[in-house]
Amino acid sequence: MLNVLFLGSGTSTGVPVIGCNCEVCRSTDPRNKRWRSSLLVRSATTTLLVDSCPDLRAQALRHNLTAIDAVLYTHEHLDHTTGFDEMRAFCWRRTERLPLYAGAGCLSMLKKMFGWAFDESNTYQGYIRPAAHDHGGQPFTVGDIEVTPVRVLHATVETYGYVFRSGGRSFGYVPDIQELPAESEPLLENLDALAMDGLRYRPHRTHFCVDDTVALMQKLRPARGLVTHVGHEVEFGGLQAYLPDFIEPAYDGLEVVLD
Ligand SMILES: [Zn+2]
Ligand SMILES: [Zn+2]
Ligand SMILES: [Zn+2]
Repeated sequence: MLNVLFLGSGTSTGVPVIGCNCEVCRSTDPRNKRWRSSLLVRSATTTLLVDSCPDLRAQALRHNLTAIDAVLYTHEHLDHTTGFDEMRAFCWRRTERLPLYAGAGCLSMLKKMFGWAFDESNTYQGYIRPAAHDHGGQPFTVGDIEVTPVRVLHATVETYGYVFRSGGRSFGYVPDIQELPAESEPLLENLDALAMDGLRYRPHRTHFCVDDTVALMQKLRPARGLVTHVGHEVEFGGLQAYLPDFIEPAYDGLEVVLD
């Protein structure tokens, strides 16, 4: 069984965008309110957080999230990392260090940004005490969830998506991508569900636009496709109508249950 909760489905600005008066930013449909992208993946026994976005505090309060078994990072961009300090609350409730998985590039940036947390002399329970693991792009297991990192191209930083497997079910998550390298393609084929970057309709230099995501999903053929990391140029209902039958827009609070 896998239970996937979209804590946030927005791009780096969030939606509404500060100071913007466009139709989407003024929309009263809650599905047009998008916190920064972050995901919770749960099995019967294990809870994983993917990225610590700047909206993590609000997300944890909304969903009464008080404990995680590990945090995984896709990449070092600030919309995926700057909620790091909010994970203190998860550390108050555990005696062991909090397992943290990332690629080498992201890990070294996290150590620069939040050096105090990684310092071995940090024994104070009130701070985050991570147990850092460089996964090196290789599969690993946390509790009863198998995790396969999927290398993707995005801007200038080392970036991974992840495939989660538990109880025979599979879920892929690729929030930031501009190109899928050929060797990564087989890892994302025929999943039970796959969520992928779809920033806007117009092309973008460092992100998939909606048509890129649709074209790739038509090739990869997930049973259920989801579009996430969405900006304010995309209205929820309009996107829902635009997408083919097997693909839908994600939204904040959407739960995908694979059992
Ligand atoms: Zn992002
Ligand atoms: Zn706007
Ligand atoms: Zn990014």
